[in-house]
Amino acid sequence: MSTRRDFIKKSAFASAFLFGGLPRLGKSKSLMGTGDTNKPIVLSTWSHGIPANDAAWKILSGGGRALDAVEQGVMVVEADPKNTSVGLGGFPDRDGHVTLDASIMDEKGNCGSVAFLEHILHPVSVARAVMEKTPHVMLVGEGAFQFALENGFQKSNQEMTPEVKAVWEKWKTDNKYTSKPIDKNNHDTIGMVAMDSNGNLSGSCTTSGLGWKIHGRVGDSPIIGDGMFVDNEVGAACATGKGEAVMKICGSMLIVELMRNGRTPQQACEEAIHRIAKKQSDYKTFQVGFLALNKNGETGAYSLLKGFQYALAVNEQNKLYDSDYLVKD
Ligand code: ASP
Repeated sequence: MSTRRDFIKKSAFASAFLFGGLPRLGKSKSLMGTGDTNKPIVLSTWSHGIPANDAAWKILSGGGRALDAVEQGVMVVEADPKNTSVGLGGFPDRDGHVTLDASIMDEKGNCGSVAFLEHILHPVSVARAVMEKTPHVMLVGEGAFQFALENGFQKSNQEMTPEVKAVWEKWKTDNKYTSKPIDKNNHDTIGMVAMDSNGNLSGSCTTSGLGWKIHGRVGDSPIIGDGMFVDNEVGAACATGKGEAVMKICGSMLIVELMRNGRTPQQACEEAIHRIAKKQSDYKTFQVGFLALNKNGETGAYSLLKGFQYALAVNEQNKLYDSDYLVKD
C-alpha cells in the first residue's frame, strides 16, 4: 500500500530534470560540521520529500522566502491523492474519518497550526492563515474548518480511495476495531525545514496522522515544538514517526535547544533519539525520525529504527538519503 516506491521513481526523474543531472553529493554527513554556510537549503522527511524539495527549491533558488518554500513544498505532497500518510488521501481513523494535522513557523517565531481538520486539501495553508490572520496559534476540528471556509478555502469532496478503503476494511476485520493503532507501516508525515538565501529559517509539518487512530487523536505534527520548531538564531528541526513518543520529549524544541547549547544538528538528533530510548521502554517497537538544520546550513538526521529516509536539496542537487539509526540488533 505504501506509495514510497512510486515517489522515488517519479521524483528521481523530476529531480534529475530540474537540477540537470545526478546529485554529486555523497553522504549528507559531508555537510556536517564543516562550518560552511550552505544556503539556500531544504531538508524534508521520507521519499515524498524529493518532489516537495523540488517545489521548495523553485522558490529558494529564485531568492524567495523560506516560509513560502516550506509551505509550497509540502503542498505537493498534500495534493497527492495516492499518498496514504499526508493529506486527504491518507489512511482514516478507525471510524473512517481522514483528519489532518499541520503546522508552520517563520523566522520571526510566528507560528500557526491546525489539528483534527477534515475536508481541506491544504491544511498547511490553513495553518499559515491562522498564523497570519488571527491572534491565535492553533485551531482544531470544526472551528478550524469554519475558519478555513471563511478564509477562502473550499470544502473538498475528495473521498477515501477504493484502495485505502479496502485496507481500512481489512484492518477493522483483522483487528476487531481494537485501539491498537500504532505500527511501523501506517504513518509517514512530511516535515520540512529550509534556509533561504538571506539566511532565514522556516519549517512546516503536515500529516493525516496515524492510520486507525482513535477519533479525535492529535499527534505531534501540529504541536509547535513537537513536530517542528524554528529559532532563527539557532536552527530548525522536524519530526516523523510515533507522535506520542515525540510529544513526551518535546522533540523538535529539544533539538533546537541542544543546538543552541553547542551540539551539531547530527548530535542533537541523536541525543533526542537516545532520550526517547532512555525514557520509553518500548522504543524498539515503533519508529521516530528527526531532521535538523542549523544557521550554517549543517544538517542532521537520526531515527530509532532502520528505514527512515530524508531528502536534502542544496547546491542545485536534490537527493534521498538513508538516515543512520539507533536500534541495530
Ligand atoms: N508523527 C505523525 C503522527 O504521530 C505520524 C508520522 O509522522 O508518521 O501523527
